[in-house]
Amino acid sequence: MNNPIIGIFGGTFDPIHHGHLACARYVLQHCHLASIRLMPCHLPPHRATPGVSSIQRAEMVALAIADEPQMQLERLELNRAAPSYTVDSLQQLKAQYPYERLAFIIGMDSLQYFTKWHKWQQILTLAHLIVCQRPGYSSATGDAPALLRQYGGSLLQLSQQDAGIIYCLDNPDFTPSATFIRQELATNHQAQAMLVPAVWQYICQQQLYGC
Ligand code: ATP
Repeated sequence: MNNPIIGIFGGTFDPIHHGHLACARYVLQHCHLASIRLMPCHLPPHRATPGVSSIQRAEMVALAIADEPQMQLERLELNRAAPSYTVDSLQQLKAQYPYERLAFIIGMDSLQYFTKWHKWQQILTLAHLIVCQRPGYSSATGDAPALLRQYGGSLLQLSQQDAGIIYCLDNPDFTPSATFIRQELATNHQAQAMLVPAVWQYICQQQLYGC
């Protein structure tokens, strides 16, 4: 029998929203993972440093998943001063979980430029990639077609191999994006519908995003 697969869901989570949670729940339901660890990055390598600290973003993740027994907060990147390279985190997680296999979860927007990620080929030696469809992003553009030709595989292959399969989910659209939420908060001070209530309360208490 193959070793269980742990999902790693990395992101800025600035803030964590219903789209992230729907994506994680869908992956748990369809890919038979043991659990998913949500890993907020400290310094994202591919974008500007968020205005909200990594500690606060991690606290919001913890609040959002409090009632999700198969999801845990992964704090690994929070204490690292250097940019949060996924390859380094996966290497550390491999050492921490020697008997499990890893699947890194991303949205289709991230697959578009995956070959720009630091040591992306090495990432595929350490983990599978599970790709969630995302409104406005297609598997026919950017890096996706070439990557899927070379690494694309089925759920069965994902369950049988140790790493290196890119598996695209057939999920419905999950909204929103954190960018949209930050804009709504800055302009209207409203975004409750897109956030877990405890996260919304935290944002108001800490007066984040211009609230
Ligand atoms: P931003 O708008 O600030 O870029 P985001 O909403 O994309 O933020 P991130 O924390 O950057 O959130 O996302 C982490 C991962 O979750 C990324 O791989 C992203 O593609 C994926 N993701 C985020 N929102 C969705 C969604 N609504 N549907 C599918 N995947 C999503």
